[in-house]
Formats: sequence, C-alpha cells, structure tokens
Amino acid sequence: MNTLSHYVAGEWLAAKDEQWSEDLNPSDTTQILARVPQGQPAVVDRAVEAAQSAFRAWKATPGPAKAEILHKAANLLAQKRQELGTLVALEVGKPLGEAVPEVDRGVAILRYFAEEAVHPMGMVIPAQTAGSLQFSLRQPLGPVAIISPWNFPVAIPLWKMAPALAYGNTIVWKPAEVASFVATRLVEVLAEAGLPAGVLNLVLGKGSTIGNVLTGHKGIRGISFTGSDTVGMSIGETAAKNNIKYQLEMGGKNAAIVLADADLQQAAKLIAAGAMRFAGQKCTATSRAIVVSEVNDSFIDRLAAEIHTLPLAPANDPRSAIGPLVERSALEKVNYYAELGAKEGQIALGGKAPAEAPLKQGYFFEPTVVVGVSPDARIAQEEVFGPVLVVHQARSVEEAIAIANNSRYGLSVSLFTRDINAMLEYIHDIECGMVRINGDTTGVDPHAPFGGMKSSSSHSREQGPAALEFFTEVKTVQVNA
Ligand code: NAD
Repeated sequence: MNTLSHYVAGEWLAAKDEQWSEDLNPSDTTQILARVPQGQPAVVDRAVEAAQSAFRAWKATPGPAKAEILHKAANLLAQKRQELGTLVALEVGKPLGEAVPEVDRGVAILRYFAEEAVHPMGMVIPAQTAGSLQFSLRQPLGPVAIISPWNFPVAIPLWKMAPALAYGNTIVWKPAEVASFVATRLVEVLAEAGLPAGVLNLVLGKGSTIGNVLTGHKGIRGISFTGSDTVGMSIGETAAKNNIKYQLEMGGKNAAIVLADADLQQAAKLIAAGAMRFAGQKCTATSRAIVVSEVNDSFIDRLAAEIHTLPLAPANDPRSAIGPLVERSALEKVNYYAELGAKEGQIALGGKAPAEAPLKQGYFFEPTVVVGVSPDARIAQEEVFGPVLVVHQARSVEEAIAIANNSRYGLSVSLFTRDINAMLEYIHDIECGMVRINGDTTGVDPHAPFGGMKSSSSHSREQGPAALEFFTEVKTVQVNA
C-alpha cells in the first residue's frame, strides 16, 4: 500500500510518530489506496519556517525563470493526464470523463499563470512635483496558506498555487484529507519542474488539527480557502482579527430558471447534468430548478428521462456519469436530506441508496428529485452537496428571480429562455457571482473571474486577472533626484 508523506523544505518527511488514516476508494470501499499521515501542529511550524526561509530568494527570482518552472510543470502534468485523472477517479470518486479534463484544466491554469509571471505589474503615476518619478509596484504577500477542498483536487489547488507562485509568494498547502494522494502527486510534479526547496510545502492531516494551526499561524501573510461556509467563516474571523489578507470561496444553492419559451429539451438535459454529474458534488451544481408553471409537467418528464441517461457507476468506469459520494458521512448527509425532502415535499425520483452489488460496495445514492416544497423549506435552503434537485414552480419571471434570490448563497445561476427582456431583467436583478443564460450552472472558463456573492464568498474573485489582486500588495514609490 502507498504511504504518503508531508513535503517540507524540499524533503518528503519520513513519518516517525505519526498517526495514520486510510484513504479509501469511495466507489469500492474494500480498496484501500494509501495510508495518510495525521499531521500534528509541529509539522505546520516546520512548513511555515521553510516557506519563510525560501521567500526572499523566490521573490527575487526573475519572472521569466518563474515562468519557465510553471511551463515545465504544465508539460509534466500534461504527460500525466491519464494517470492523474485515474487517481482522481479512484480517490475522490469523480467520473473519469470529468477527472481527466480536470487535469487538462490544471495544465491550462499553469500555462496562463506562467505567462502572467512575465506580464507588466504596476504603473507609472504622474507626480505633482516636477522631475519626480512616481510608480506603483506589485509585490508578493509572503508565505501564504492554501486550504483546498476535495472535489476539484487538481484545478482548485492550482488556480490558487499557480498565481501565488507566479507573483513570488511561497506556500504551505493543506489539502482536504480525502484528496491527500492526488495532492502528493501534484507536489511531485511541481517539485520535478524545478521549484526550489521551501517554496511549496505540503502538510497532510485533519483541518481541525492542523488547518486551524496553519490559518492562525503568525508566519502566514495570506490565506486562500475554498470549502464549506462553516469552516470558511471561522477562518475569516481569525484572519480578520490578525489583519491577514484572506479570500474565502464557499457553498452554493444554485438555481436554474426555466421560462415557458425555453428549449425545454435543452434545459432538461443541462439541468440534469448540472444537478447529477459527479453526484452533485460541485459548489456550482444545480440544486434548485424553478420552472414556470405552464411547462412544469412537461419539464419534469423530460428531466426524468435525461437523468435516466446518466449512468450511476464506479468512477473509474469510463461510462460513469454520476459516481459515488466521497465518504460515508457524505452519504449519510444525503440520505438525511432525502428523508427530509420526503417530509417537506414529495420524492419524484430516486431517494435511496442502491442495494445491489457492485454499487452497494461504494457510497452511491440514486439521483433524486424533490417536488412540492416551499422555497423556504430546509431542503430548498441548505446545501446538500449530493445528487438532490428540488423543483419549484413560479408564475412569472419576476417570481422565479425572487425564489432564486431567496437564499443566503449567491454563487452560480442559470436562466433558460429566448426572451431578451427576461434575460435583461434577470442579469440586473439576480444576486449571484456567476450568471448563465441557456447553459449549465457548473463550470467557468479557467481565465474568467470565479466567485460568489452573499454567503458564498468573501467577495474577492479567483482565476484570471483577479488573482493578481489577491496574491500581491501595492507599493507606491516616489523617486526624487
Ligand atoms: P470543508 O470545509 O470540510 O474543507 C475544506 C478544507 O478546509 C479542507 O482542506 C479541510 O481539511 C480544511 N479545514 C477543515 N476545518 C478546518 C479548520 N478548522 N481550519 C482550517 N482548515 C480547515 O469542505 P469540503 O468538504 O472539502 O468541500 C465541500 C465544500 O466546499 C462545499 O460546501 C462546497 O460548496 C465548497 N466548495 C466551494 C467552491 C467554490 O469555489 N465556491 C468550490 C469547491 C467546493
């Protein structure tokens, strides 16, 4: 069996008195993939010290040299796309058909930020005093903490780490425990590409044992977090108290609105995919459909037919579209919400875990549709993070937008219509960071701003030009002869 290690100051640390957890394949829990060390606070101290020691030299490393390392990492990752994609499928249960493209997205992210390392940063500002030269510089923050979730174990860490590195920061990365194996492979790629020792450090273990130590550490100058809002809000509180720059990307309860003039077949297909692929375990997964009453019945029939075309199968089966939940507690949570849905409304499809082999060896749950619930019901308000879609009815576009906005979250949303007036009203009034028309709520181009409104985010953005804002600080310089 594979035994994983922390990576600190350029060394894979041989574990001594570590406690261990088992990394299971969620599609078949009889398969143990690796032993994962349960890091203790001391390893965080060592990793932060390593990131502090490496910072000065990495900050001073010329942009073209940083770009070369990131390009090399992109090339190495591209060579390993199938191998790493397969590991993503095995470790977190993402169907292969999405796991391999996620690695490709990682390659695109590395290439984008490799180019950023040689782009101009800062500007010349006309000075009030004659003969004076005034300009602004963008400089890295210092050692930063990257805290990532398990559901995009390649793309999310890379869209944080690639800009952090390109702009001269050093990193201590704490991935989600259930994605530790993929994290280890990703660090191997970056190390092989030539990152100097200490620039990127990896600590493995529980969020409640080492994640909190890392985010409260005095040596850390920035925190980039993606995960649940409960954890994110507590990180934000600590960071604000210590005046540390932070960004939080959190949960969603994403709606798709279907108007009477929509292409119902297209809407049903994209909503089924947005809600059920990867068992709904995406922050942008569609979890509420809001359908104008006159087309509701016809939409539900088409939706059910589309869901039936999505195979529920082990993630490393190339036909799989849905896959398992990531761990037992996630399966229990989904089951709890399906039961709640049956009390608050009616189950129109699914509602239980499959009882037959081979699926009963994994954390599978049938794709589930709940109807007849109030928009204020818990099943319509709380993030399930599973293959559960609630369908509401609305009488007009105004009412549909009001239902969509009746959420503490504001991450992603979609509208299906051909009516330009409805589109414009929706663009103005909807309270979400990522707004689609005639498209799925999931997936955003890797160079476009990514993030939410309301409780979905700390209101900064990730990816593309937004990353420069977060991972650098501005210094205003005036030079007088
Ligand atoms: P999680 O909050 O349980 O864990 C996220 C990370 O935080 C993990 O690395 C975990 O170990 C760490 N952590 C846990 N407790 C901590 C603590 N006290 N201090 C510091 N770190 C701690 O989330 P998850 O289950 O990995 O991911 C699912 C959640 O992530 C969902 O809510 C989903 O919506 C959200 N998510 C959001 C986005 C987005 O961009 N908005 C993207 C993907 C996932």
